[in-house]
Formats: sequence, C-alpha cells, structure tokens
Amino acid sequence: MKRLNLAILFFLSLIVLQNSCKHSKESGMKHVMIAECTPTEFRQRLAEAPIAYLPLGTIEWHGEHLPLGADGLQSQGFFRELASEAGGMVFPMFFLGPDRTLEADGKEYYGMDTGNFDTSSGHDYARRQFDGSTYWVSDSLFVQMLEATVKQISRAGFRILVAHGHGPSTVKMAEHAAEWENKYHLKIFNLWGYRDEEGMGIMVDHAAMNETSITMALYPQLVKMEYLPADENTWPAGVGGKDPRKYASKEKGLEIIRIQKERMVKVLSEALTQI
Ligand SMILES: [Zn+2]
Repeated sequence: MKRLNLAILFFLSLIVLQNSCKHSKESGMKHVMIAECTPTEFRQRLAEAPIAYLPLGTIEWHGEHLPLGADGLQSQGFFRELASEAGGMVFPMFFLGPDRTLEADGKEYYGMDTGNFDTSSGHDYARRQFDGSTYWVSDSLFVQMLEATVKQISRAGFRILVAHGHGPSTVKMAEHAAEWENKYHLKIFNLWGYRDEEGMGIMVDHAAMNETSITMALYPQLVKMEYLPADENTWPAGVGGKDPRKYASKEKGLEIIRIQKERMVKVLSEALTQI
C-alpha cells in the first residue's frame, strides 16, 4: 500500500513538473508584448535587442469571412512570432489609420467603400458603406500621432522599429521613414519587399488569398469561409486579389509566415550589428 502511494505520488509530481514547464514556456512567449513586461523585463529585453514592433491596424471590412480587425491581428500575430526569435518587444496595435476617401451622392466613402481597390482585376463592385468599417483619421492627424509614437519609441531606448499592417498606414510610415530615421536615430523597416507579387508577402492583398491565408494560420477560429458566396462566379464584395475561396489555406499562411520570418530574422540581426 505504502509503495503504491509512493508510486502515485511520483507519478503526480511528474505531471505537475510537466505542467509547470509548459506554463513557463507560455509565459516566456508573453514577454514579447511590451504591455505585459515589468520594467525589469523591459530592461532585459531592450538590452538583448532594442527592436520595437508596431502593428498598424484598423477596423475595416475584410470580406464577410474575416474579422474587422484583420490588419492589426495579422501584423501583431506575425510580430509576436518574429519577436520571439529575433528579440525585441511588440507594441499594442496602433488602430486609427488613414485611407482614401470619396464624397459622392451626398455621402462619404472610406477605403474599400469607394469600390475601386483594383480596377484592373475586373473585380469591381458598387461603392457602398461597408458594415463595421469604423476607424479612419486624416493623413495629417495620422502622421502627427505616428511621429509622436516614433519619437517616444526612440526616447525609450529602441534603435530599430518595424512597423507594418494596414496598407495606407504602412505607406505613410514608409514616406516618412528616411526623415524620422535621421531625426530620431532609428532604423525603420516594414515587411514588404520579398515575394510580394506571388502573394507570399505579409499582407499584400485585401482579404483575398494572402490575408485570408495568414489569418487562417494565426487565428483559425476567426475565419468563416462559409460566409462567402458559395457561387464562385459571384465575386465577394470588398475583396481585392486572388479568390480566397480557391487559393487560401492555412498551409499557405503557415508557409508565408515561415519564409517571411526567416528573412526578417536575418534582416534584423544584420541591422543589430549596424546600430
Ligand atoms: Zn488588410
């Protein structure tokens, strides 16, 4: 009986040990998010790699099948994985962003509402106010908010900034990158520039093959393919790029994340030797 108790105790302690390892692994992952770091953890991570990641999001229609926050979710999810290999800390999503606007029929249209994402694709749709699209600010207000954030990121001690996400926000950042690199002693990157034309970049279409695949890989529970029109001759409104019903998959998303993470780890470790 005693021997049996000892055996049970030994077995139980193995389970506890296994769980505590699992737990510490999970909490280790969490510490790439700056909002979850204590000052001690912040100092440690900053000393290891002074890299800040800024996910640029918005609340915008991404087809009937993707969540409204798809841009911030994709960039944050990718940054979280990248930071756990390359080092550095991921900032909370920067949600308000700019986009093209159009005034017509006495109404205001923003971003995908305007109905002309890619006129060459033949996948145009009538302009309309898309359900759920909410966040928008003017270019000048966005640039002001972004510059204030960039300045503070530099002041906190970061030397490298990777900002990516919602297309128009990423473009605004790129337009000011050279100026702010000089002014705030930072190196600034985004994630575009490698295999984008094949749809293997990070966020290189709108809710189509690329963004749907990435969201499937990072948040499978948030993608509802069954909400898209079943008839493949009916183009899904507000989707720009290759048909997600034919070409998107979780496997493609995982492959995109793998090749882009591998590339960015090299880019950032090279950048760390130059600061
Ligand atoms: Zn998007």
